[in-house]
Amino acid sequence: MTSIPPGATIGILGGGQLARMSALAARRLGYNVHVFEHPAADAPAAPVCDRAVRASFDDADALVDFARGVAVVTLEFENIPVSALQALEAHAPVRPHWSVLQTCQHREREKLWLQKHGYPHADFRVVSTPEELRSAVAALGTPCVLKTAEFGYDGKGQRKLDSTDEVALHQAWQAWSLAGTRVASRGVVEAWVDFAAELSVICARNPRGEIVASPVFENMHTRHILDFSIAPARFPPQVAARATDLARSITERLAVEGLLAVEMFLTHAGEIIVNELAPRPHNSGHLTLDAAVTSQFEQHVRAVCAQPLGQPAMLCAAVMVNLLGDLWPKAGALPPDWSAVLREPAAKLHLYGKAAARPGRKMGHCTVLDAKVETALARARGIKAQLQAQADCA
Ligand code: AMP
Repeated sequence: MTSIPPGATIGILGGGQLARMSALAARRLGYNVHVFEHPAADAPAAPVCDRAVRASFDDADALVDFARGVAVVTLEFENIPVSALQALEAHAPVRPHWSVLQTCQHREREKLWLQKHGYPHADFRVVSTPEELRSAVAALGTPCVLKTAEFGYDGKGQRKLDSTDEVALHQAWQAWSLAGTRVASRGVVEAWVDFAAELSVICARNPRGEIVASPVFENMHTRHILDFSIAPARFPPQVAARATDLARSITERLAVEGLLAVEMFLTHAGEIIVNELAPRPHNSGHLTLDAAVTSQFEQHVRAVCAQPLGQPAMLCAAVMVNLLGDLWPKAGALPPDWSAVLREPAAKLHLYGKAAARPGRKMGHCTVLDAKVETALARARGIKAQLQAQADCA
C-alpha cells in the first residue's frame, strides 16, 4: 500500500467544522486540501482550503471533476449518498469505503450489524406503522425512544415515549413522522438505557490495517447535544479497557479506513452498550487538538493517506465545552464577549467562523487544560456559566 506523501492533495466531502479542523491538520503536515460541499451549506472549511467546490452530491460531473484533482477522498459527515462515493471511487481512493457509510448512516442497518456481530446494544425494534410502534413499545416497555432510521444526529428525529396508551402512541407517531425533513416514516424504537455515564473512543485505522485508539472520553450531554467532554475519563481501568477493546474490534470488523468514533453508554451495573458509530472525526475528540500528542484530525489525515499513525496519548487532562448558538445574543446584537475564555491562561478558544448562530448550532468550542481533570472541569464549568450569564443578560 503506497502512502500519499505531504504535498499531495486531499479531498474532503462536506465543508463544516470537522472538515475545517481536518484541513488545518492536513495543511500543517504540508498537504493541500480541496473541499466539496453542498451549495446551501454555510462553509467553515472553505477559507482554510485550497479549493472549495460547491455542488450537489447528485452532480456526477462535479464529483468526477473533484476526484480527478485529488489523491484521496475522505469525508466529514456520514449523510452523503453512497452513490456519490461509488461515482468517486473510479477516479480516486475513497476512505472510508462506501460500505462503511452504508452501515453507519442508517440506524436500522447499524443496529442490525451490531446485533449480527454480537456487540452489546440497546434492545430495539424496526417500525414503519403505528401498529408496529404499539407492539414495539409493548415488547420493550416504557420509557423507550423512537429514532429516525436516516439523517438523525444530536437527538434530531428522536422522541421519547413514556406511555403505552394507544391514543398517546398514535399521536406520538403522527408528530414524529410528520416532523423535520424525514424521507420515510421508518424508524427504530430503542429500549431506554438508564445509563450512569456516556463515553466514546475514536479509532484510526490505515489501509495497512494498523489501528490506534484514542483515550476514552467521558461525555456529558444536555438536550441530546454534547456539552462537555472530559479526558482522562473518570472510570475504573477495566471500563476504559473494555470500551477501547470494543471500539478497536468494531473498527477492525468494519475495515474502516480513516476514523471511527464509537459512542457508548456505561450502565449502573458496569456494562458497556454501544449507542452509535460515526466514521469521521467526532465532537468528543476535539480536546485532542490541544491536549494530545496526535489530534484526531491529524490521525484522520495520516490514516486516509496510508501513513503510520501517531501516538494518541494525552499531554495533560482536558475538558472541552461546546459553544452553541444559544450563547450568542439575539439578532443584531454584538457577538459574545470571549474574555471569559481568553483570560483563563490554559483555555483554548476555537471558533468555526459560521455566519449564523442558531440555538443548538455548534459555533465553536473551548478546551481547558490542567494537570488535574477535576480542576479543568471546574474551570470549564465556570467559563460556561459566565458565557451563559452574558447571553441571558443580552
Ligand atoms: P443519539 O443521536 O442516538 O446519539 O442520541 C443522542 C443522545 O440521546 C445520547 O447521547 C443520549 O444522551 C440520549 N439517548 C439516545 N438513545 C438513548 C437510549 N436508548 N436511552 C437513553 N438515552 C438515550
